[in-house]
Amino acid sequence: MPDGDPKISYSRTPIRQLDETAINRIAAGEVVERPASAVKELVENALDAGAQRIDIDIAAGGKSLIRVTDDGHGIPAAELPLALCRHATSKIDGSDLINIQTFGFRGEALPSMAAVGRLALISRADGTASEIRAEGGKLEAVRPAALGRGTIVELRDLFFATPARLKFLRSDRAETQAIADTVRRLSLAEPGVAFCLRDASEQADGRILFRANAEPGGFADALLCRAQRILGKDFAANAVPLDAVREGFTLSGYAGLPTYSRGASVAQHIFVNNRPVKDRLLMGALRAAYSDFLSRDRHPAAALFVGCDPELVDVNVHPAKSEVRFREPGLVRGLMVSGIRHALAEAGHRASNTVSHAMLGAVQTEQPQQPIYRMDRPRAPVTYAPAPMATGPGFAEAAAPSARIETPEDEADDTTAPLGAARAQVHENYILAQTEDGIVIVDQHAAHERLVYEELKAQRAESSVPAQTLLIPDIVPLSQDQADQILSCAQDLAVLGLEIEAFGPGAVAVRATPAPLGNINAAALVADILDELADLGSSTSLDSRLDAVLSLMACHGSIRSGRKMRADEMNALLRRMEATPHSGQCNHGRPTYVELKLKDIERLFGRT
Ligand code: ADP
Ligand code: MG
Repeated sequence: MPDGDPKISYSRTPIRQLDETAINRIAAGEVVERPASAVKELVENALDAGAQRIDIDIAAGGKSLIRVTDDGHGIPAAELPLALCRHATSKIDGSDLINIQTFGFRGEALPSMAAVGRLALISRADGTASEIRAEGGKLEAVRPAALGRGTIVELRDLFFATPARLKFLRSDRAETQAIADTVRRLSLAEPGVAFCLRDASEQADGRILFRANAEPGGFADALLCRAQRILGKDFAANAVPLDAVREGFTLSGYAGLPTYSRGASVAQHIFVNNRPVKDRLLMGALRAAYSDFLSRDRHPAAALFVGCDPELVDVNVHPAKSEVRFREPGLVRGLMVSGIRHALAEAGHRASNTVSHAMLGAVQTEQPQQPIYRMDRPRAPVTYAPAPMATGPGFAEAAAPSARIETPEDEADDTTAPLGAARAQVHENYILAQTEDGIVIVDQHAAHERLVYEELKAQRAESSVPAQTLLIPDIVPLSQDQADQILSCAQDLAVLGLEIEAFGPGAVAVRATPAPLGNINAAALVADILDELADLGSSTSLDSRLDAVLSLMACHGSIRSGRKMRADEMNALLRRMEATPHSGQCNHGRPTYVELKLKDIERLFGRT
């Protein structure tokens, strides 16, 4: 203890049993931390009661009023006082804390709220409606009430009995936002249930903050519709369905395409046995599943449902039940990573359609500056002059093994193929292709980089990336530190086709480079690898560091923008994109191509 007044008194007082109100206030600190947590508990109670429609009214960010109305099975009059007693629940009998099928089970929510606010519980069951009120933990007598069906829980002046807690709350706006998030999240878990959240504050006058009608159909269809409400109307068009099983665990729901990523993790919803969770393990697994497609500052959108035998997961870890503990965390993580990657691979070259929509939006707002000429001549057959090969590390050598032209010309020039037939190259960087019902614009560098990357990865997964021995080793001068660092990884790099040896003090000799890259600038590659390794630090796993190195290699070995390409080369690239998983986005999550449908183009010209 430092000098001065002790902050904690050590003079002894006798041990006392705290009264019920005090106990409930302590519990309330954990269960109802803020208005949004009260809303969560009340909505979960309504769902547990089998409600099909849940109305939530709030005022002043939930601080002055939270009212949740449901059409569930209700509570009989005789049980109303019990509902407000701590550790009283109808959901478990206490003999089995493992096999829990409901949202609630701790019997803490209502008594906690009754201890820190003014609570009214009105419910109808067995044909009669009754009501009980409580204020600051004191229960009143049960009285008859008028109510057609279900239950209304009204919580006024939350935390009036614990002013210290009140001080910790944020602005009405921020608390309203948190409540809306909570309702949205829960509404994803039960897409068959209708939700309506209203702001009943005087100035808001019943403004609807969120509304979702009951989605019809089976769970998967209903979920997709609900996900559109929550994650945006483009979500369905930009997500892949998940369906994976592993040793008693299932993964379902939808994962957004990498090109549909966000700047923050707000669009991630994870459920375990239908319970919304904010679990570190699962969020980490989601991130890992996309690590190959997204840069570190982008976040995927997803609605993921992990299902398992309740015995395999403990939901009783935290009073708010937002964390879970798995018996075999590695298994769940593996299922998520492989299940999502597999689904994304099946999506193949699909890239986000929001890109082309965004582009259309941008184009449409621009008024034509010049008079537009009507082009009315018959379409001339397109001819290709063989493009001169660029000097330096060009496509033909650089990507020979990866982009060899294997398709005969007539087959390669196929407008019925998903990415169409190449018609032109513009600005030495964009391939224009014609499809059956539109056009496709490909960023040649981004697309080829991804193809090379996928090829390198496949080779590494097989055994190792083939190396191409240099006639004369490339000597790369480095600082001694850097030389030591890269030499310490020499064995791992050799598996990737990059062979490096010590070469006196302060230099290394590059003896061989990865064959799929063709002729590359070895010194520049080594410098980039050193930067990347320094950036990633030692906490990153070896595997992800090697992936990062592969990604760099792909960048060094891909067609530069600015290189002219022949028609057959362009078509070969398109066909390879179609055949390669994940080719719809580059290694940084940007699209490698955009597609414009004819009807979109017609819209541009005001033809529809
Ligand atoms: P828990 O949900 O953990 O059981 P609560 O304190 O949230 O504990 O609720 C206590 C009990 O009150 C529940 O077990 C349930 O029987 C009853 N109850 C609460 N809310 C409702 C509701 N909206 N409809 C029907 N019964 C409810
Ligand atoms: Mg509850």
